[in-house]
Amino acid sequence: MDDKNNLFKEFQSVLKNPIMIEGIEQYLSDWRGVFEGKVKFVVFPSTTEEVSKILKLANKNNIPIVPQGGNTGLCGGATPDNSGNSILINFTKLNNIRNIDLLGNTVTVEAGCILENVLNIVQEKDRIFPINLAAKGSCTIGGNLATNAGGINVLKYGSTRDLVLGIEAVLPNGEVINNLNSLHKDNTGYALHKLLVGSEGTLAIITAATIRIFKKPKASISCFIKVKDIDKSIETLHMLQSLVGNNIEAFEIMSKPILEIVHKQFPKISKPFAAIPELSLLVEFTTTSELDLNIDDTGETIFQNKIINVMSHLIENNLIDDAVISQSEHQNKELWEIRENANIAQMQEGFQLKLDLSIPIENMSKFWKETSEELKKKHTEVKICSFGHLGDGNLHYNLMDEDKSKGYVYKNQSALKELVYKKIKKFNGSFSAEHGIGQLKIKELKKYKDQNLLNLMRTIKNSVDPKNILNPGKLFT
Ligand SMILES: Cc1cc2nc3c(=O)[nH]c(=O)nc-3n(C[C@H](O)[C@H](O)[C@H](O)COP(=O)(O)OP(=O)(O)OC[C@H]3O[C@@H](n4cnc5c(N)ncnc54)[C@H](O)[C@@H]3O)c2cc1C
Repeated sequence: MDDKNNLFKEFQSVLKNPIMIEGIEQYLSDWRGVFEGKVKFVVFPSTTEEVSKILKLANKNNIPIVPQGGNTGLCGGATPDNSGNSILINFTKLNNIRNIDLLGNTVTVEAGCILENVLNIVQEKDRIFPINLAAKGSCTIGGNLATNAGGINVLKYGSTRDLVLGIEAVLPNGEVINNLNSLHKDNTGYALHKLLVGSEGTLAIITAATIRIFKKPKASISCFIKVKDIDKSIETLHMLQSLVGNNIEAFEIMSKPILEIVHKQFPKISKPFAAIPELSLLVEFTTTSELDLNIDDTGETIFQNKIINVMSHLIENNLIDDAVISQSEHQNKELWEIRENANIAQMQEGFQLKLDLSIPIENMSKFWKETSEELKKKHTEVKICSFGHLGDGNLHYNLMDEDKSKGYVYKNQSALKELVYKKIKKFNGSFSAEHGIGQLKIKELKKYKDQNLLNLMRTIKNSVDPKNILNPGKLFT
């Protein structure tokens, strides 16, 4: 007890905010309730200097550190193990926006900023922050960076890694690396800021980052589209890219089973079509041009008519069956509510085998058909609830029970995973497109990652963190 007390005092002496020992349950399990752990205590640094001091103490005392932002990660990356030996650093108090550069179009934010707050603040400056995901109300910039979060805007702006220009981080020995530059060109050696993005808290603690922002669109129109099959969906993507490529902000797909679950769990969300289509696309178009807002002789804006014409063209060319086009910001929001509630609805519905995969677009149709045919043949009890960011090749390919009472998916998870992962490999895809590895997919990483690459990852980890104090048990065993 004395040792624990001394440790507590030592850490508290370098921190402004009180350390928590009790009432910390919310920090000890993951968003899905799959992983649970224990810690000595939870600390809430509010400056980079404090983070540095914490790591110096942890390094000196050989204490593992578990970094945590909003705790919305889906792979157990922010959940401690059961030993109770580690200290959890929660970053939500390290939350300043340090700078918004409206000429260079960058924002410098601290790791604990809640994504939604950054989205709103940047929006007030007539810009948009291009990282956007359904967990925006709770997830933090540090978590977005550490997991290289994707989301709905990757098709247009790229993933978090593509958007980061500079990073400030603290190494396991407490040294601060300041690489907070906003340069688009800087070939002075390794792009270490890119390496830290997606490193899941295993190489360094990210304390701040400089990220690109973009001119805020003047108008946004969303279309909920009924489409026959995956081939037509991909043809629609290509056609839209050639007709209005610069206007496509997001391109999402949703299968019938996932829509049924969303409308069952959230009956107040209105259905775009009376009968739920087999396959739907949700596409958002935006424009940054004032000229597009001019009203033409039909009484609509030029932009509205452009999208109406594009949808008509898709119907005439037999690519899509029907489309609901939003007429107002409110309708836009309503359509997106369907997509944004997909994860939560599924969690409320019951057990799901969550698979977060990406497939090259050229192989997507073959993957989609072959995998569903084989699943249906070998596992008749399984329902494929697929949805996600088709525009960038990322599907949330979640498997659920046709009949919940049988618990078939839970009992057969290994076989189901194996079947899908083999197909992913066959079609040159990735078994973790945007959620990372955490503790959930360590075995898969070992099995499916190129062995030389994996060895190089281990070598980097061992040289940066020789005592393995940063987020042990994540990425590697
Ligand atoms: C409803 C819902 C929808 C989602 N949609 C998407 C989506 O569309 N796209 C997507 O990519 N993800 C999505 N996710 C997953 C999750 O929201 C993201 O991974 C998010 O980026 C995690 O942020 P967080 O702050 O909650 O991180 P946490 O869960 O707290 O941590 C995630 C990982 O980052 C590490 N970490 C956190 N902060 C730091 C730091 N400052 N320095 C170093 N390491 C750190 C943690 O140790 C852990 O390994 C979704 C999750 C939910 C619940």
